[in-house]
Amino acid sequence: MRLDEGSGKYIEDRRGQSVRGGGLGRRGLPLGIGGFLLLLVLSLVTGKDFLSLVGGGGGLPVDPGPASVPAGPVQETAEEAKSAQLVNAAVEDIQDNVWMRVLPGDYTPLTLVLFRGAVESACGVAESATGPFYCPADQKAYIDLSFYEELDRRFGAPGDFAQGYVLAHEIGHHVQNLLGIERRVRQLQQQRPDAANQLSVRMELQADCYAGIWGHSLAQRGQLDRSDIEEGLRAASAIGDDKLQKMATGRVQPESFTHGSSEQRMQWFSRGYETGRVDACDTFAAR
Ligand SMILES: [Zn+2]
Repeated sequence: MRLDEGSGKYIEDRRGQSVRGGGLGRRGLPLGIGGFLLLLVLSLVTGKDFLSLVGGGGGLPVDPGPASVPAGPVQETAEEAKSAQLVNAAVEDIQDNVWMRVLPGDYTPLTLVLFRGAVESACGVAESATGPFYCPADQKAYIDLSFYEELDRRFGAPGDFAQGYVLAHEIGHHVQNLLGIERRVRQLQQQRPDAANQLSVRMELQADCYAGIWGHSLAQRGQLDRSDIEEGLRAASAIGDDKLQKMATGRVQPESFTHGSSEQRMQWFSRGYETGRVDACDTFAAR
């Protein structure tokens, strides 16, 4: 897959922040006022400086005011930097070169939030284990780049197109939101709780089909390599709900994790890829 370099206009990098109350980020220790007082008392009682255990030796409490605390510049491994570059390029390509053109006037781009450990969204606090997700309430997609290591090592779905596929799927949910599909499905689910799961699966499969439309567009532009579609299929099958459910330990589940079987996911991805058409992705009309 060959993409132009991303400008960063759709990226919100929160990797240097940690979230209070939602599990700790990998770095930065958000010390509540209680914790600060405890260390202060310990220091006074023992004469040792316990406060130097946290923070940079200055012993200053981290301000518990804001929900997110900046924790300095982002440090990243070479692998992470590569992933960050890729998501930057992909999120721009998927939106500018596909959806802006497919839905002229109806498409407003989303922002992709990069985070580590935990993140606060309008849908609640989510942890990395939740996996990448889209929040309709703030129209943002969220990803902890460590998900890609997981995708590679645990699910055997490496590759740049596989990584892009994950984003294309989340952006597919954004499209569903903009087109009012998401709202209609939620309404239907309330009216018919018995069909709620079925409807979720159809939503997920439609997002896969939309991700396929991105593949179609790339192929038409001659930017896809032979191995890419295989990568996409592997990613689609790897993150079927049977496997994803195991990862679902986050406290919010903006997605229900009912993604359909691996086979269904590959089928709908292929459908989008072959046709490149939104109306071919009507998973709700399908049997
Ligand atoms: Zn989904």
